[in-house]
Amino acid sequence: MTARQHLFFDLDHTLWDFETNSRIALKEVFETLNLQGKGVTSFDEFIAIYEKENERAWRLYRNGEMKKEVLRTIRFGNSLAKFDIQDESLNEEMASEYLERSPYKTALVPGTMELLDYLKTKGYPLHILTNGFEEVQGIKMKESGLSPFFDHVITSEFIGVRKPHPKAFLGSASHVGADVTKAFMIGDNLEADVLGAKNVGMSEVYFNPSSEKHDHDLKFEIQSLLELKTIL
Ligand SMILES: [Mg+2]
Repeated sequence: MTARQHLFFDLDHTLWDFETNSRIALKEVFETLNLQGKGVTSFDEFIAIYEKENERAWRLYRNGEMKKEVLRTIRFGNSLAKFDIQDESLNEEMASEYLERSPYKTALVPGTMELLDYLKTKGYPLHILTNGFEEVQGIKMKESGLSPFFDHVITSEFIGVRKPHPKAFLGSASHVGADVTKAFMIGDNLEADVLGAKNVGMSEVYFNPSSEKHDHDLKFEIQSLLELKTIL
């Protein structure tokens, strides 16, 4: 069978190990800005709070209820507030230090390179479709060695809407010349990647490494990236 199906991958948490990379960067920021000396009890306590605040801010951003400029600092402001620290300029410093560092971190989700080699050999056209920021996603791709595998890196900023908006998928498919009904979307976010793709008739693959429970009837669900080899 000739492989002509276009494959769209989400980037953060799907191929680029967001959690690991983010923690490494935050640890550097934590030390550089001496947060312990400013009243944050420990890095572990900080990261636990920050990850929740970050996820909350991203959910609002995806739904169009928060602007990018707000997301950028509020996740730090809300986290520091839990330690009774209110310091706008510290929020700003954390945000810029973090955004300067994190895209240069290179941890990938286990199996990424082996999978991409396999898919490339099979001749699938590969693309990234990400809600992440234009200016950082390109750096991540290049630094972590992902760039050579992908024909297109499509950000929601480029398309004008974010996943799960139908236009994010339809616009991307038309941009790369893919038949949307033959295309696949592989991602870790049930709402944004998986249900969004299913909604427009793409084949959805839910990358669900921690086996989160849900009651959706999905075409494909995998716990590890290499399971894709049994599908594609
Ligand atoms: Mg993701």
